[in-house]
Amino acid sequence: MHLNPYGHDAVNLAADLANHPPQTPAELAARCGDAGLAIESPVTEDDVARARAVLAQWETIVDASDERERAELVNRMLAESAAYPRLTDHTGVWHLHYRDDGQPLGSVLFALIAVGTALHLVGRGMHRLRRCAVPECDTIFADTSRTGRQRYCSQVCANRDAVRRHRARPGHRGQSLAKQGPSIV
Ligand SMILES: [Zn+2]
Ligand SMILES: [Zn+2]
Repeated sequence: MHLNPYGHDAVNLAADLANHPPQTPAELAARCGDAGLAIESPVTEDDVARARAVLAQWETIVDASDERERAELVNRMLAESAAYPRLTDHTGVWHLHYRDDGQPLGSVLFALIAVGTALHLVGRGMHRLRRCAVPECDTIFADTSRTGRQRYCSQVCANRDAVRRHRARPGHRGQSLAKQGPSIV
């Protein structure tokens, strides 16, 4: 995985892993591989435990109450995880690593998620990381929409909330939803 200037691949990987925590080393390796991460050494139970700890720390960033707190938590994660950046071409393409060489996957994920989240937030907006607005859906997503006002994890949740808000309106008689404008997904 090459960190793009906005870091959204890394932040999307973090959201995916947090929403459905990997259970085994094989699953962790496969999902990171699918996301484009070069897996350099055998993945172990330690990596799974480390990944889960990284994600738990990352979720405090998602749930931060304001921008200052969010920035502070990102900075803490960066300070704990990142080494000085360096150029490498181990995949055949020159790119930056924010970590020392020869690290296990759990540590690679820590640095990647910390730096990717920092790039995403400063590049697109500090508010663009949240949970779905449907209360019974806890799904985390990175908002990469054009407007930066994405409220739902999916169209399914957007529709669900539209129906609920419609039903909650005073005088509801089961009118069609067609009069309402489209929800921002
Ligand atoms: Zn690399
Ligand atoms: Zn949702």
